[in-house]
Amino acid sequence: MLTRLASTSHEELYRVDDPETGLRGFIALHSTRLGPAAGGLRMRVYDGDAAAIDDVLNLSRGMSYKNAAAGLPLGGGKAVIMGDPARDKTPALLRAMGRAIEALQGRYWTAEDMGMAPDDMAEIARETRFVAGLDHGQHASGDPSPITAKGVFNAMRAGAAEVFGSDDLRSRHVAVQGLGHVGWHLCRLLHEAGAHLSVADMNAGRVANAVSEFGACAVAPEQIHATEADIFAPCAVGGILNARTIPEIRARLVVGAANNQLAMPEDGDALHARGILYLPDYVANGGGIINVAAEILRITDSGPWVAERLDAMQATMTQILNRAKGEGLSPAPIADRMIEDQLLQVAV
Ligand code: NAD
Repeated sequence: MLTRLASTSHEELYRVDDPETGLRGFIALHSTRLGPAAGGLRMRVYDGDAAAIDDVLNLSRGMSYKNAAAGLPLGGGKAVIMGDPARDKTPALLRAMGRAIEALQGRYWTAEDMGMAPDDMAEIARETRFVAGLDHGQHASGDPSPITAKGVFNAMRAGAAEVFGSDDLRSRHVAVQGLGHVGWHLCRLLHEAGAHLSVADMNAGRVANAVSEFGACAVAPEQIHATEADIFAPCAVGGILNARTIPEIRARLVVGAANNQLAMPEDGDALHARGILYLPDYVANGGGIINVAAEILRITDSGPWVAERLDAMQATMTQILNRAKGEGLSPAPIADRMIEDQLLQVAV
């Protein structure tokens, strides 16, 4: 079921195949330097194996950086399943993925990501011990999305202080792309803080709900990045900050939950050149993995533990923004450099 593939950039890369259940996917362990590789399981349609491998390699590398930025004793890993979650996801397929994860003997811990829900994690847990984000069980941490949203919200306040001179989000106009698990919670926090919302999602029902619940303004998905707003919050797919979209962005601050928002590393510089402050995604969206880590690390009183680490993550973001300002650079390369230095200091 697991076939090891060669990789020069990652510690381990596997193809996962189970013809009986239709499972096709990949698992990548980028680094176990800080601890077991941890990172979510994503299910989506890919344009072939190469696209899925690219995604799992990028995402798992991102997890090494994210876990380090969140101050966790965890390395970086990720898994992807190729398929449409609405059509192809079955209990048997999820259990097959669970068996593949179990075969890695704890070197990789999985959790929820795009296309997955807590119930799916429970199905996977029938076959493996190395799954977190469960609703039930002694250390169950549940859906990480509300904590992810809280971390993004905190980061947004730090960014607002930098760009607008105040971290108060009241009356700020935020364009949110994606009203899924994280986007929805983020909208609620922003609404409660008095922000105005423009929203987009491929799912018209979610948009209609946001319009009625938060008084949000509906925007076409292909236009949301270009909304005349103060802040753009990508909470859907990666690669949204690219050569085509960056010239059209009208917000002065970009911060959201989506992983790998920059299509290319240079896109961070392109945003900086346009005077747009981009907050590194893997620092802003680390709340979810902090919540999941409490389960992996078997923390008993997890509430205060999680809150403490969210505060530390916020302090790290502020430190990155200060350094970026001092050096006149985009926060993206500054964050990378800080984390790479941190990883290098750990003995192999
Ligand atoms: P989700 O699957 O629950 O929601 C994604 C939403 O985006 C869906 O409603 C989908 O219809 C919408 N969408 C997809 N393509 C779109 C497009 N082009 N325009 C507008 N909407 C679009 O996923 P989620 O858990 O909310 O995660 C969102 C992003 O945040 C992902 O990139 C994920 O990797 C990242 N993330 C999530 C967590 C977490 O705790 N769930 C933690 C860290 C990072």
